[in-house]
Amino acid sequence: MILGHLAISALLHRYAKAEWTPVMAAAVFPDAVDKTLCQLLHLTPTGRMWGHTLLSLAISTALVGHTWGRRAARSWALGYLSHLAADIEGDVPWLYPFGDLDLTTPSPGVWEIMQMKLTDPVGIGIELALIAWAAHSLRHALKARAVAEGADLRRC
Ligand SMILES: [Zn+2]
Repeated sequence: MILGHLAISALLHRYAKAEWTPVMAAAVFPDAVDKTLCQLLHLTPTGRMWGHTLLSLAISTALVGHTWGRRAARSWALGYLSHLAADIEGDVPWLYPFGDLDLTTPSPGVWEIMQMKLTDPVGIGIELALIAWAAHSLRHALKARAVAEGADLRRC
């Protein structure tokens, strides 16, 4: 779910030194695109389509790189790839439109998705563990920054 994606991106920010804004935006971008197109606008047959492809990853990374630079593009790509990897428990159309897209299973609605996620204790446990780890590591990073800034202030 979305909090798990955000937690993974927060961990990428902390440990892979990804820039905060692009890595966090990329964490939600695939679902923002595909869930909007499918569940809200009813324009696509599945909630994992254009936003969940390597083509979209490549194009959006190029656009981010062109607009905000290489470091932002690297951060965006990390966040995006982490989203696709975290979705691996279901169908991810990595190669669409060049590969097949499984449309035999109807896409669940938002409420059905929530019910499935909330009745999966293992999934909830993994997501809560990721959120706790991300919160702990960010708190630790903020403390370290405050200590470093305090040390800088004492030098002045
Ligand atoms: Zn997704």
